[in-house]
Amino acid sequence: MLTKINSIVLIGIEGFKIEIEIDISNNLPKWEIVGLPDTSIKESRERVKTALKNSGYEIRGKKILINLAPAEIKKEGAIFDLPIAIGILANLEYIKNNKLDDYAFLGELSLDGKINPIAGALAMCIELKKIGINKVVLPKDNAIEASIVKDLEVYGVENIKETVEFLNNEKEILKTESKLDEILKNEGKNNLDYSEVRGQENVKRALEIAAAGGHNLLMIGSPGSGKTMMARRITTILPDMNFEETLEVTKIHSIAGMTNKNKIILKRPFRSPHHTISKVALVGGGKTAKPGEISLSHRGVLFLDELPEFNKNTLEVLRGPLEDRSVLISRANGNYEYPANFMLIASMNPCPCGYYGSNEKQCTCSSKDIEKYMHKISGPLLDRIDIQVEVNCIEYKRISTINKEETSEEIKRRVNKARKIQEERYKKYNIFSNSELSPSLMEKYCQVDEECKKLLEKAFTRLNLSTRAYNRILKVGRTIADLEGRENINKNDIAEAIQYRSLDKKYF
Ligand SMILES: [Zn+2]
Repeated sequence: MLTKINSIVLIGIEGFKIEIEIDISNNLPKWEIVGLPDTSIKESRERVKTALKNSGYEIRGKKILINLAPAEIKKEGAIFDLPIAIGILANLEYIKNNKLDDYAFLGELSLDGKINPIAGALAMCIELKKIGINKVVLPKDNAIEASIVKDLEVYGVENIKETVEFLNNEKEILKTESKLDEILKNEGKNNLDYSEVRGQENVKRALEIAAAGGHNLLMIGSPGSGKTMMARRITTILPDMNFEETLEVTKIHSIAGMTNKNKIILKRPFRSPHHTISKVALVGGGKTAKPGEISLSHRGVLFLDELPEFNKNTLEVLRGPLEDRSVLISRANGNYEYPANFMLIASMNPCPCGYYGSNEKQCTCSSKDIEKYMHKISGPLLDRIDIQVEVNCIEYKRISTINKEETSEEIKRRVNKARKIQEERYKKYNIFSNSELSPSLMEKYCQVDEECKKLLEKAFTRLNLSTRAYNRILKVGRTIADLEGRENINKNDIAEAIQYRSLDKKYF
């Protein structure tokens, strides 16, 4: 008799249905698993055998053939333990349920029959629903995470025995209700706020524009000027994620195994890897093709503090993803594409000693040192940063005259308004913000008048800008106009946008 059980495998972030076929006969006792299993699936044989025995099921003296189809898809991980065990028990009629085909099963077994949580459960459940499966049985510890998938019945189980009783209608297990509303409600308020940053209006303005249009931003300033403090607060003014974004982001974190304990990512990610990070950790890959920091920052912010300290070759790999908003990871068994639509915020000192151009302290660097330091960042990478802003230490005298700083909430309100305009404008193009505009869309949406053109021409010669930099100015100008709710980009918008490219001339 042949039994079939559904499960799933993820390749990159895409799911593929796996059918586990079990054939049991009374020939010479033997276990065989076929269908390109990797070592973990071979180990699975020993786990399933022992777990079934310890749960009180008699499986001795049988020839058990297990096939994981389709054969050409490479399968990894221990998530097939549970479906294999269920398949064997159904085949031996310990389970009597003629609707097993409605379900998919995922879960790793302990030797005592307990079902252990797995990484990537939410991602797998999103994909199961897409494949057309409406019911899933998985480890109880993953049930809340999985329950946020709409119209998917999720049953969390703790051990094999309980699963068998549930499938035989001998024990009631209620489907896990979505806790999304509760999670949303309990999500605490941000403990960071821009009102804690005294002064620095010009930098806050630049950050507001960056947030409003999804632009990349570089801060240049001396140590102690507050660059990191301001960068860390950027997510407090970014618009809240919608449900689709929440799913997408949680899915990536779930694949990376970072969502244990039913964590659902509700806030835009803010990732700040250390400058010693490797290429693989930054863009993803390695033996298990895990998503890297750029994918973990998807829909959020990648903050690179002290940019010139990063290995130059490591930084260069950012160029592609910054343009494509995704990353392709090649492996022996195929290419994986992970999304990587993040906002890059970077910070750096103006020179090796940190005080070039500062009124605080005298810079002790030679012009050669400064040049060498600046050239650690390549022109093409710099070209992909729309906004550059200088951060100065503010004087104590000024601080004491400031009464009240604007809160993140107030800034966010303006950002949200500007984002709404963009969402509406670009809804048929599948993009969300001005930073994503293609050259052809720019022609349509970044029209400027003669006066603006003259201003741009002058800046172009004076600052010796590249074509890419020119386009970036137009996009930033578009965002400044959107913040004001204006349809046309005017001269002031362009002048301000040019100002955010002027550091090229001064520093690089
Ligand atoms: Zn210096």
